[in-house]
Amino acid sequence: MLKIEQAREAALAQAQAQVEEAKRRLAGELLILAHHYERDEIVAAADFRGDSLELSRRAAATEARYIVFCGVHFMAETAAILARPDQRVLIPRPDAGCFLADQAEPAALRAAWESLRKEIDVEQELLPVTYINSSAEVKAFVGLKGGAVCTSANAEKVLRWAFSRKPRVFFLPDQYLGRNVARRLGLPEEEIALWDPRFPGQDPASFRRARLILWRGACRTHARFLPEDVRRVREEHPGVKVIVHPECRPEVVELADEVGSTSFIIRKVGESPPGSIWAVGTEERLVARLAKENPDKVVFNLAEPPPFCPTMSLTQLEDLARVLTGLLNGEERGRIEVPEEVAAPARAAIQRMLEAS
Ligand code: SF4
Repeated sequence: MLKIEQAREAALAQAQAQVEEAKRRLAGELLILAHHYERDEIVAAADFRGDSLELSRRAAATEARYIVFCGVHFMAETAAILARPDQRVLIPRPDAGCFLADQAEPAALRAAWESLRKEIDVEQELLPVTYINSSAEVKAFVGLKGGAVCTSANAEKVLRWAFSRKPRVFFLPDQYLGRNVARRLGLPEEEIALWDPRFPGQDPASFRRARLILWRGACRTHARFLPEDVRRVREEHPGVKVIVHPECRPEVVELADEVGSTSFIIRKVGESPPGSIWAVGTEERLVARLAKENPDKVVFNLAEPPPFCPTMSLTQLEDLARVLTGLLNGEERGRIEVPEEVAAPARAAIQRMLEAS
């Protein structure tokens, strides 16, 4: 074995031992959460793995004093918003952001709202809905305006809820998720407008017509899947079923057999009969794990080469070990705090989601 590989294995073994030791000593006080896109060794060390909705519910329900969130920044922020004042939320890699969430700057959202005010009666007619992949400040803005958060698992329910309250919805930051749900709701194309934060206020007439205004953002990992990928796998694998995440482009979703959240994908593949063939349009770490956990089926990534989420990949076992050994020494490394004036309205927007779904 090469020296560099030996050194890596030794470092991993040491980190693993530190994690186990900390878990033993902090038993009852600690909850480690991991998103499905995290590395295998992180998922193995976690008490619970899940998608955004499952993790936010688990974070809201736990009695543990320390919640260590292995995921990206907005997820830990969401956990901190839901946590009790005596609970601490820590993230092993505070620099792990989300490309999609970062596309909706709070200042740009406030400016968009003011620009839209010139075209429509925003207070009476427009309700904002934000995908959970957004900052605490964006969630707070949405909460203050009476709107809600949603995840990919409940976006349809939350949008139905929003349309039952106001005639128009401002959905951010994922234009593809918004458009995919709009199609399921049967919204005609001419009633959908696109707000581009880089070129604000273009085509004002489209906003006056619109029932749904979509923020022009997208996840670069899921945007990698193209209609050509669906056509290629159908040619190469007769009988294949294509299942994709709703952050994918609408033209990909249209060609797929199934579309749904991460937990939907896991359930659908798991429940399929032995011998089924699945091409999965989502993050590769999840797809590779799904293939391993379903050895009686053929499971592979829809894209070639498969896309990884670069920021989910940042968290290494050593980062988790550092946070946990810090706790044993009385240090709160990677602590996430959200000021109460932001957390309170953001919490209201999350609560509306939990009630609507
Ligand atoms: S896969 Fe996309 S949406 Fe999910 S965390 Fe990564 S960048 Fe954000």
